Amino acid sequence: MASIFTKIVNGEIPCHKVAEDEHFLAFLDINPLAKGHTLVIPKKEVDYIFDLDDETLSSMTLFAKKVAKAIGKSVKCNRVGIAVIGLEVPHAHIHLVPINGIHDLNFANPKLSFTKDEFMDTAKSIASNL
Ligand code: AMP
Repeated sequence: MASIFTKIVNGEIPCHKVAEDEHFLAFLDINPLAKGHTLVIPKKEVDYIFDLDDETLSSMTLFAKKVAKAIGKSVKCNRVGIAVIGLEVPHAHIHLVPINGIHDLNFANPKLSFTKDEFMDTAKSIASNL
């Protein structure tokens, strides 16, 4: 069965898109640790990030770099943190999370909630800084 992220890629499930090219997609995490928390995925469905072929993994990292720079311009933070968990969704993805300290990248922290309009504004702002 297709992963939830493949359904997003195929337009079957909506997302707050931040960036896209032929091979990768970036969209806001629906249960964010911080405003601007973004996921970067390969369009090709592979469960474990370290099973991606070398070219896809390195290109995805460079794609994530561009997105992280745009997040940093849109959201006030010290750094954009990067993390790979992958325990919930079996489709490789990188988390990009605006952080001000080490505690901000703790995935056990309570998640934030935003309205649809707030998500849309955040996604638009990041996209405009790409
Ligand atoms: P993990 O696989 O442990 O890295 O966690 C998967 C992440 O995907 C979690 O942070 C979820 O909030 C996020 N997530 C799950 N479904 C969606 C969705 N439909 N749109 C955006 N983010 C999602």
